[in-house]
Amino acid sequence: MARRKKIYEGKAKILYEGPEPGTIVQYFKDDATAFNAEKKAVIEGKGVLNNRLSEFFMTGLGQIGVPNHFIKRLNMREQLVRTVEIVPLEIIVRNYAAGTMSKRLGIDEGTQLPRPIVEYCYKDDALGDPLVTEEHIAAFGWASQQDMDDILSLALRVNDFLSGVMLAVGIRLVDFKIEVGRVFDGDFQRLIVADEISPDSCRLWDMETGQKLDKDVFRRDLGDLKDAYTEVARRLGVMPKTAPVTKPTLIN
Ligand code: 5GP
Repeated sequence: MARRKKIYEGKAKILYEGPEPGTIVQYFKDDATAFNAEKKAVIEGKGVLNNRLSEFFMTGLGQIGVPNHFIKRLNMREQLVRTVEIVPLEIIVRNYAAGTMSKRLGIDEGTQLPRPIVEYCYKDDALGDPLVTEEHIAAFGWASQQDMDDILSLALRVNDFLSGVMLAVGIRLVDFKIEVGRVFDGDFQRLIVADEISPDSCRLWDMETGQKLDKDVFRRDLGDLKDAYTEVARRLGVMPKTAPVTKPTLIN
């Protein structure tokens, strides 16, 4: 197999040039990072689980008409996605207070919010992805007013979809982060959901016990991260409980 061109390596994924123009191969690594990569570990099998889970969520979103970058899964760790021009924002939707919102506003974790609250962070690792307002976004030209309308609509549709899917398997969707990207169809540009949707970027709590089934398990040393993600996958029927989660040998 010809050596593929690496386009970008992030904390949890590597992007390679895809087989056709306008496509990218997204490779899910086992690396786990938290607190802007101050805490790091390799969790064997995490990449395999996130590849499957992101496929599951993106496919479901596509089925209800929420445009996203997913084309197809290629193998255990890789999926083919559309090339997008990433909007430099992390879009966070919160249904219950947790994490930085709880800290910032002094609201107990787990408090239900009066309605879903959408926040924007400027995507910049060196700055620690700071929270920004729509004023910053407009003034610095990161997204237009039309983009912001579209982003809000996408974020809330993703929230409704994910909340419902999770509720059906006894999991509370506390909050999540998405990223969006621009695609160009001739003179037309539109925004689609990109990056990944996985327990790395969501807070997922068991509805009955409150057990955390997301990256907070790693961030807060609450147990085995792979067990938590496997439980999410099992409940969603994404991977049977007994499916082997092995490290692949196939990397470029
Ligand atoms: P918080 O702002 O409370 O740290 O995070 C809110 C939600 O967004 C959580 O579900 C968290 O996992 C997700 N999130 C925020 N920033 C990032 C990030 O840089 N990477 C990932 N994977 N998720 C993030």
